[in-house]
Formats: sequence, structure tokens, C-alpha cells
Amino acid sequence: MVNHPDWSALRATETARMEAACTRCGACAEACPMLPYAPAAQGVAAPDLVRGVLEVLQGGPGSPGARDWINACTRSGSCNAACPEAVNPMLMLRLAKWRANETGALPRRDALEAMSRAKAFARLGFTEDEQKDWL
Ligand code: SF4
Repeated sequence: MVNHPDWSALRATETARMEAACTRCGACAEACPMLPYAPAAQGVAAPDLVRGVLEVLQGGPGSPGARDWINACTRSGSCNAACPEAVNPMLMLRLAKWRANETGALPRRDALEAMSRAKAFARLGFTEDEQKDWL
């Protein structure tokens, strides 16, 4: 018989580790190239966005800005490079999204929204000519 990992237990372990390791400095949010595509996050202080994400990760509703940031994440990894505590904020947002889908804090994305996020991410690396051709 194959033993499958207990993903929920792994998430609980990671949640506890992140909660303890994160200083809420906000460097991950400041480094995120997708934040401009999270409308409710505009004007919110980076540490407050992180607090909201950690709240979602623990099963709470979080804040509108935090939820929008979680939704906008395309796993660029810029946050991981910026984090001074090796928290792995990219995984933090990923796990928060999983939790939010379970609790209903975030509705599951539809295909149209996923496509618009893919285009937004592609714009970060495409020239203007490439954008005209491909987007
Ligand atoms: S995950 Fe890292 S960069 Fe983000 S707030 Fe926590 S300590 Fe700072």
C-alpha cells in the first residue's frame, strides 16, 4: 500500500514555522511584481498585507488587500529573494490560497480571471512588440 503524505499536517507545520519566523517586515510585498494587479492592496502598508496573509493562512478572513495579493500571486519568487528570514513567502501565499479556498475567504478563480492574470504576468517580461503579437 502506498503511503500518501498528509498535506494538511504539512501545511499546519509550515503555518506554525512561518508564523514564528516572519517578522512582518513587508519586504516580500514590496518586492512583489504582481502587487499593482491587486486593486485592494493599493495604498495598504506592506507589513499589514503580510499580517492579513498570515491571518488567512490560519483560517481567518484576512483583509481585502491581503486576499487580493494572494489572488494576484503568479509565483514569480521575487518575494523569496527579498525575505531576510527565509520564510518562503511564495509558499506562504500559496498555502494561504489553499486555506482561503477551503474556508471560503477566496472564491475559486474562473478561467477568464486566470487568463487576465497570466497576461499581466507576461507583460512583465515581454517587449511592447511582443505584447502586440502575443497578448
Ligand atoms: S515573509 Fe519574510 S519578507 Fe515577508 S514579511 Fe515575513 S520576514 Fe518579511
